[in-house]
Amino acid sequence: MGCGNCQGFIEKHVKMDSVSPLSTQFSQQCILSSCEEHTHVVFYEGGVGHISQKNCYGEPPPSIDKKNQAICRGIPVKETTHLRRGQNAEGKKMINEYVREHKIGSGSYGKVVLYRSSSGKPFAIKALSKSRLSRVRVAPAETAMTDVLREVSIMKRLEHQNIVNLIEVIDDPESDRFYMVLEYVEGKWVCDSAGTPGGIGEGCARKYFRDIIAGVMYLHAHNIIHGDIKPENLLVTKSGRVKIGDFSVSNAFEGDNDELWRTPGTPAFTAPECCLGLTYHGKAADTWAVGVTLYCMILGSCPFMGDCLQDTYERIISCPLSLPEKLDLELKDLLRGLLCKDPMQRITLDVAASHPWVVRDGGPICQTSCRCKEKMDIVDSVALA
Ligand code: ADP
Ligand code: MG
Repeated sequence: MGCGNCQGFIEKHVKMDSVSPLSTQFSQQCILSSCEEHTHVVFYEGGVGHISQKNCYGEPPPSIDKKNQAICRGIPVKETTHLRRGQNAEGKKMINEYVREHKIGSGSYGKVVLYRSSSGKPFAIKALSKSRLSRVRVAPAETAMTDVLREVSIMKRLEHQNIVNLIEVIDDPESDRFYMVLEYVEGKWVCDSAGTPGGIGEGCARKYFRDIIAGVMYLHAHNIIHGDIKPENLLVTKSGRVKIGDFSVSNAFEGDNDELWRTPGTPAFTAPECCLGLTYHGKAADTWAVGVTLYCMILGSCPFMGDCLQDTYERIISCPLSLPEKLDLELKDLLRGLLCKDPMQRITLDVAASHPWVVRDGGPICQTSCRCKEKMDIVDSVALA
């Protein structure tokens, strides 16, 4: 299907027809603006995390719902406005108190490097260039820098055992560098979306899936849409716990309205309704991506992978889900529910959390208590007293 009646589809296709549907985010369909290099860009407010200034392009601040700005954290994210770069006695590079070990990942806009604090504690530090990000336009009024600031604003509100924790942000106005100091997750990804032959096994997939559901449900309960759920953004600790990372295309929504229009995720994990370039519901789109991830963990590949981007979209929109006959019946039912093309008929994460295949080993998924809810409860009981 050429999807000729769909501008959004055509636009994406035209801009991205030479890129892999697996590895590329729509946020990279950026058009480099002709703006001059500059070092002074947007800085986020010290408080709850909404942007207070416009940048040199007059961009509006990333939208964060004021009613839902409760910070669900015990310890706030440290905000450091000075940067000292140097070397230690062994000649290893340092930024502030952190000593560089080695690169552990490269992302769309920067690299992720393992550093150690003076006490030897490991941290994953995402290093970004403010001038470069500010020249990358991701939407008419937004640059990649807007995305990073939104990512920070969102992560500053969150703390959960299945979410990668943001510890510190280093943003020195005198420097072009911007650093996000993250909790280091020492394991690998839940699986490889490019193919883990035979999958990772049903038992392991169930265990990971339960963590993924718990993490995404926590996000949705805090009015946050992840927007790029896929194996490469799901890191596993040494003890086997999944931590959801990479909030670079996440969004906060207001009230009960999770309607979004930009689809910045990864093509192979994009929900059919998002391929149509219209508005869509973020929770249902995250749920689809969770379903693609489960399929990958079980079967070792993506369900609607095409030879090129257009082919992938066409398959996502119109190919029926095909599952091996020998697959467990309850697992089939779960996959069909998550990968239902119609977002209105797709099962919700609440339903998935109590699905027989999910609860078969380990019982119902526990909702961990939530700090901001606790705070609200205290406020409520004070008000009632
Ligand atoms: P991008 O938005 O550029 O994809 P990510 O946040 O996904 O950036 O990071 C890119 C890669 O870096 C990840 O796929 C992972 O391999 C590695 N990485 C990111 N954060 C961590 C972390 N906290 N601990 C360990 N590795 C990480
Ligand atoms: Mg990523």
